[in-house]
Amino acid sequence: MPEIRPETDVRFIVGVGPKKAALLAGIGITTVGDLLYSFPRTYEDRRKRVTIEALREGEAASFKGKVLSISKKPTYYAKGKKTPLHVLVGDGTGAVELVFFNPKYMDRIFTQGRAFVFFGVPQRVRGKLQLAHPDFEVAEESAEGRPIMPVYALKSGLVQREVRRWHEAALPAAGMIDEYMPRSVAQSEKLLSISRALVDIHFPPNRESLAQARYRLVFEELLMLQTGLMRLKLGRESGQRGESKTANVTAKDFEALLPFPFTGAQRRVVSEVFADMGANRAMNRLVQGDVGSGKTAVAAAAVYKAARSGYQSVLMAPTEILASQHLGGLSALFEGELNVALLTSGMATAGRKTVMEGLSDGSVDLAIGTHALIQPDVVFSKLGLVITDEQHRFGVNQRIALAHKGTGSGSRQARDAVPDVLVMTATPIPRSLAFVLYGDLDISVIDEMPPGRKKIVTRAVTSSKREAVYRFVGDEIAKGRQAYVVAPLIEDTDEPGIPAGLRSARSLKEELTGKLTGRHVALLHGRMKPQEKDEVMQSFVTGRVDALVSTVVIEVGVNVPNATVMVIENAERFGLAQLHQLRGRVGRGAAQSYCVLITDSDSTHAQARARTMTETDDGFRIAEMDLSMRGPGELFGVRQHGIPSLRIADLARHVRIAEKSKAVARRLLTDDPMLVKPGNRALGDRVESLFRDVTEVGL
Ligand code: ADP
Ligand code: MG
Repeated sequence: MPEIRPETDVRFIVGVGPKKAALLAGIGITTVGDLLYSFPRTYEDRRKRVTIEALREGEAASFKGKVLSISKKPTYYAKGKKTPLHVLVGDGTGAVELVFFNPKYMDRIFTQGRAFVFFGVPQRVRGKLQLAHPDFEVAEESAEGRPIMPVYALKSGLVQREVRRWHEAALPAAGMIDEYMPRSVAQSEKLLSISRALVDIHFPPNRESLAQARYRLVFEELLMLQTGLMRLKLGRESGQRGESKTANVTAKDFEALLPFPFTGAQRRVVSEVFADMGANRAMNRLVQGDVGSGKTAVAAAAVYKAARSGYQSVLMAPTEILASQHLGGLSALFEGELNVALLTSGMATAGRKTVMEGLSDGSVDLAIGTHALIQPDVVFSKLGLVITDEQHRFGVNQRIALAHKGTGSGSRQARDAVPDVLVMTATPIPRSLAFVLYGDLDISVIDEMPPGRKKIVTRAVTSSKREAVYRFVGDEIAKGRQAYVVAPLIEDTDEPGIPAGLRSARSLKEELTGKLTGRHVALLHGRMKPQEKDEVMQSFVTGRVDALVSTVVIEVGVNVPNATVMVIENAERFGLAQLHQLRGRVGRGAAQSYCVLITDSDSTHAQARARTMTETDDGFRIAEMDLSMRGPGELFGVRQHGIPSLRIADLARHVRIAEKSKAVARRLLTDDPMLVKPGNRALGDRVESLFRDVTEVGL
């Protein structure tokens, strides 16, 4: 028999025959090394060994017992299926029944009088405790010394006990894996050696060792991911450099222009932005901040520093309405300081021509606009900063097109320099996910609201309270306020696949028109023509409509400070992020605002969402919750980006480690971009093979 080495075929492990080897190959395991890197799904804590008498419903426990009797009892559902095997085991303090629904070979294992160690969760079935498919080992073979046992994800045809044994057989090979973590990183992050980590992740002597092993493996996985992403980014940017914005402007200097002091978060983000701008590497930064967190002031600070350094800036908004809102605010702010102009496609030719002249001769410091700014005929004198507001509405190509505007002919700057890019979004993307989705961007988060905002009072109620809810809506309207009511459907329907009891916007509109006598109730939904929608929205903005019943179409950016109530019917139909966005429509004025979630669902997920909404208004926490409930793949189709899948790291849980690994990756690559120095080469090779199939992360 050959020595067990990492590259040894699994078939050399005792007990792995051709059939088992094929099953293992199906889950990507063909070598001993694959076994080492296939980590347990979870662990069983064997220290909780109890007597049978002490077993409790729903509590995982380990116990030792002898087989008293075995029987095959056909049950009501057993027709055409295998007959389940019932095994009664006892230990002197009592007896408990075990049931195996697919009892192939089991009757050969469970012979009367034989002792086993079992592990499982007792359930109460017809009044008596029972364990279905407990994990078990023959008592004399049981690793008594091992308090924590690994549990592996299995494929049908594989049994936990044997898989565990194979992993154990693979352990000696762990010692032969050469350390690939650069020594400097291992030291600064206090990482276990890879050999130690690979042994302890499978068979940890205690909780502490398990935690350390897991830390090492999660860290290295995220480090490799981040290193790979950053190298892709460097590859894309090679030959492109930025220009340092040298004007000595600090966050404090700019603050003097503002009518209010910065929040702590704004000040921190501005400092991060300024540091980027001062470097001669082009800035690529994403600023996330909930609606109302004050992103515009941060953008304005960047514009100010660029202008003081002799550069022009561009601010792109997704709609003309938002663009002109920005124009109003920023030209007032920069009055007498900077020259601000608007450029949109709706402009008259003459006005457009004047602005374009100002851009090419350098007299305009800041151009605010829409897509019109990316047209080929728009030429800048010296473009140094590109800001996009609500970036998720711009395609990546547009972002890139603008970023290259600084390099066009007619530009006074160095041919290969690109402008700084600042991207602002109100969509709270969990840090952990943003880290993957925007591997090419640095991220700043404005996680603090300006003072004086009133918290929106949020309640979740069942439909039995509907009358009271709408009476409340009526009261608010009587005070001169307005309300939104959101429903999941446009029309009532009996289509198959749509659960009964869902409210439609149309029927609610009828109902409310009856209830709110003398009030103006309007309907808005996605199947209306754009012009009709605009008209309805406009009459809500001007206050002619008191209550707006709609589907989720309510536009981003509509600002109606007088609206104080948001009622969401069938709240269980909406995702957390969506509920949060909807709630963000109210609470924009001085008056107290309310959000009412109506739901009769008792599903755990719906309940958890409702609880999260009533407990917090922190968009990032909500997004994190959303992520952990749904999983990143589901949320944004991360898989489709071709990013290597993760074996042990969990982006929803390991946020801090992700951030650390990112800093380390940057440090490594700054010093050694190709990872070819002797101490880094081993890691570089691993990253390379991990990213073998990824040429471009298509974001
Ligand atoms: P958003 O992040 O949604 O773009 P805005 O930049 O539009 O938010 O800011 C929302 C409102 O808060 C604006 O009226 C702005 O003037 C105000 N604001 C921003 N920062 C502060 C602050 N530090 N203190 C007080 N008010 C602020
Ligand atoms: Mg904004």
